[in-house]
Amino acid sequence: MTERKERWVGFVFDDRYLAHNTGLALIEETDNYPFAEPVPHVSDPALIGRAKQLIDLAGISDYMVRIPAYEASDEALLAYHTQSYLDHVRDIARQGGDTGQGAPIGRGGDRIARLTAGGAMASVDAVITGEVGSAYALVRPPGHHAMADRGMGFCVFNNAVIAARHAQRAHGFEKVLILDWDVHHGNGTQDAFYADPTVLFISLHQDDLYPVGWGNREDCGEGAGKGFTVNIPLPAGTGSQGYLEAFARLVLPIARQFQPNLIIISAGQDASVMDPLARMALTTASYRDMTTMMMDVASETCGGRIVVTQEGGYAPAYAPYCSAAIAEMLVGAREAITPFADPYGPRATSMPAATTLGLDAERAIEEAIHKQRSYWSV
Ligand SMILES: [Zn+2]
Repeated sequence: MTERKERWVGFVFDDRYLAHNTGLALIEETDNYPFAEPVPHVSDPALIGRAKQLIDLAGISDYMVRIPAYEASDEALLAYHTQSYLDHVRDIARQGGDTGQGAPIGRGGDRIARLTAGGAMASVDAVITGEVGSAYALVRPPGHHAMADRGMGFCVFNNAVIAARHAQRAHGFEKVLILDWDVHHGNGTQDAFYADPTVLFISLHQDDLYPVGWGNREDCGEGAGKGFTVNIPLPAGTGSQGYLEAFARLVLPIARQFQPNLIIISAGQDASVMDPLARMALTTASYRDMTTMMMDVASETCGGRIVVTQEGGYAPAYAPYCSAAIAEMLVGAREAITPFADPYGPRATSMPAATTLGLDAERAIEEAIHKQRSYWSV
């Protein structure tokens, strides 16, 4: 226990997240027809439960400081969401139901969603005050699809947006970088800061997957925010090499030029090779690499301050390994950590996309670079 505190990593996990009730059906149905057995909702909170178990069993959490989540207040949520939406979520939580477009909560779910946004805020507090050097908010429900006036795509409140605004308003941290590597586009986050040059939003996602029509490379912000939205759509099948190339040529140079005071990562591990909702080919090694690269940028630009907030990641057995890999990188190499075998590692890394950069991925990256040259030296 001789490490300096800034090397410690905050960890937000609240048992109440496991009570986030998505119901059974992914789309509207109310029963399992025509199947006899219930098919679990892909965003079942058991996913983060399993990630938590791995992080604990490997000994990673021994090097993390538990940060208690608190419920985000109306005032905090109103930094992005509308009052009528907050009222709507309260109403829906009386019986359970959809808060918008495919973002269900169970009875009492308003409180869980507030604890989630508040978990991201508490991470920001702990990192900015120096209680810890970085933090991982392993939360449910996710946030990056949530719009000001409605839930979307499993997301109720936009945790990353609320956390970024909290850093600015409560702590005076002006410039925030939000890097969104969830395989889907962070439409809500983009919307919140589209005309705002103080928050740089960079998204890597599978091209036009969800929500359809969002995340085009041409969408670069508007007004004073022009250039501060960076969309990097990648073709289905992109693996480690494609992501590494996109990081090296776009994400890292742009992040360095922006010089953030704080980095928030919207970390969805649904670009994994095992994910049922997308068709990318990342592995635990990819998540290790991406985390390390962002830690390097953070130490160069903002004293290492990173808040990772959990978004998607739906491979029941594999996504937890990817999340644990991120936590493992955050705490750094520690002898006491039990290396856990990635059960799909050899198979995943033998896929061509893991080792070669496909022509379509290369073209997508070139086109994104071409677009970004209007705003950044890339
Ligand atoms: Zn996603």
